[in-house]
Amino acid sequence: MATTQPKLLVVEDEPAQLEVLSYNLQAEGLTVIAAATGDEALLLVDEEVPDLILLDWMLPGVSGIEICRRLKSRAATRAVPIIMLSARSEEVDRVRGLETGADDYMVKPYSVVELMARIRTQLRRTRPAAVGQRLEYEDIVLDAETHKAFRGDATLKLGPTEFRLLATFMEKPGRVFSREQLLDRVWGRDISVDTRTVDVHIGRLRKVLCKSGGEDPLRTVRGAGYALG
Ligand code: CA
Repeated sequence: MATTQPKLLVVEDEPAQLEVLSYNLQAEGLTVIAAATGDEALLLVDEEVPDLILLDWMLPGVSGIEICRRLKSRAATRAVPIIMLSARSEEVDRVRGLETGADDYMVKPYSVVELMARIRTQLRRTRPAAVGQRLEYEDIVLDAETHKAFRGDATLKLGPTEFRLLATFMEKPGRVFSREQLLDRVWGRDISVDTRTVDVHIGRLRKVLCKSGGEDPLRTVRGAGYALG
């Protein structure tokens, strides 16, 4: 895996549907976080912003449409793609769903193959390296498919951790990642690594990037973390 697995939040109140969906998504190499209600979904998103949300329309309590509207009106979650899942098929509902800000819409029963294709389309925007896109930043090129990185004509000899770090930065040039966010993205949440480990690997990545010439493209932001550019 070139980068850490994209995290999908699935909001679905039917246990059987949630199970099938989770199984299929995990088989595709995605990490699944599940919520059975809208309130639960909002709490989970507050804790950790996912890479994409699959959102059932009909939920007990707060409806999927309302959840979508709230998430799209918040700065922290506005850019997270939302695919609405619904048993309704009327055109008017489809329009309403998209007006609420949903990025895509699928009517149940849907084909898993088609759903996966649409998920990949959305992830190409938010997690391009994770779906094998080639990324470029100034003279740095990262090819997630072949797992190679270059600066100018030079091949960057990166260890797996440094490669994932670089991919994370190149997915969002200019964005400042905190050490905790990098730990989460690059090492995964379960592994208990010290935030100091992040500094060590940043140092290694810097060394490789500078060895091939050019200025250090990584920026240390005091008290905040690191950014590319
Ligand atoms: Ca439902």
